[in-house]
Amino acid sequence: MLRQTFFVASCLGALNLYFAEDTILQILSGLLVLFSLGISIVWPEPLPPPPAPDLWSDAPVKKERKMKTCSSCGKAVDLKWTMCPYCSKRV
Ligand SMILES: [Zn+2]
Repeated sequence: MLRQTFFVASCLGALNLYFAEDTILQILSGLLVLFSLGISIVWPEPLPPPPAPDLWSDAPVKKERKMKTCSSCGKAVDLKWTMCPYCSKRV
């Protein structure tokens, strides 16, 4: 959309350059034509196309941790632990 707008601006500047009789106006219109035509050519596309939906990989399977329960407070602690982190007693 922005490129078309700059292209239209350059066309208007060309018309202005054609009809202008003053030298300063002709110079300004020529600058406008060059500037807006250059921008309408060089301006990049606003957004790249979205990636294909099958590019997303599946989430890894959740690893199950081996747990046991604390004998004094009853909370779940890791199987390898010897001390409970909640009540600091021996599991
Ligand atoms: Zn505990």
